Amino acid sequence: MPELPEVETTRRGIEPHVTGRVISRLTVHDPRLRWRVDAKLADWARGQHIRAVQRRGKYLLLQLDQGHLLVHLGMSGSLRVLPLRTAREAHDHFDIEMDSGWLLRFNDPRRFGSLHHWQGDPAEHSLLKNLAPEPLDEAFDGAYLHRVLRGRRIAVKLAIMNSHLVVGVGNIYASESLFRAGIRPGRAARSVTRAQAAALAAAIKAVLGDAIEAGGTTLRNYMGADGKPGYFKQKLYVYDRAGEPCLVCGTLIKQRVMGQRATYWCASCQK
Ligand SMILES: [Zn+2]
Repeated sequence: MPELPEVETTRRGIEPHVTGRVISRLTVHDPRLRWRVDAKLADWARGQHIRAVQRRGKYLLLQLDQGHLLVHLGMSGSLRVLPLRTAREAHDHFDIEMDSGWLLRFNDPRRFGSLHHWQGDPAEHSLLKNLAPEPLDEAFDGAYLHRVLRGRRIAVKLAIMNSHLVVGVGNIYASESLFRAGIRPGRAARSVTRAQAAALAAAIKAVLGDAIEAGGTTLRNYMGADGKPGYFKQKLYVYDRAGEPCLVCGTLIKQRVMGQRATYWCASCQK
């Protein structure tokens, strides 16, 4: 599943190819995405400039003259920049054709992605207005994290994966951040001390930052915006390493299911 680093990598990948271009045509081949694409969206977008490509959580925001297009990659979506008239393949759901002779194409086999248009402040959109601070922003720090974890009985791993508390920390990065911070994933959020919250906030920033640096963790369904498949695989300390020795201490990595997601930790390094 594309997580925040993959979405940010997509943003960086498409940005130079779409910024400043005019949308000559937007074609929705199949509106049945996670939410049905508004039939009026194509006419609305036509003729507008793409002024910027931003990201909020896992949403990509294409800033147009009159508002924004919001794109979510869902479970298996990808955006690629391709020459106009590139033959469509299965699961290509919409094309944003540009005056440059290129198009931005959305492919999503599982159709959990989405496309919306919005004329107001994107921060007021119902999908965005309740999102927590961006983990890479300064507002996200140990004090913030300690404040939102305090008083919560749920496991700390589930808390940091809750997009109302922390945005963009998916399953892989949750296990990795908790390992780096030395905190067991099953601990009650409220048991995390101020110092541990500071370590965890720093670990989340580091793990996401490293993944963005590496171009996102390799994902089965993800293609780079330039059409080249795959990314450098980030070094993972615990994720998907059940029964293998901890890279720090040699203790065998444990696994259990939490909130229906596989969770990995080192019982020696993490307390
Ligand atoms: Zn260890």
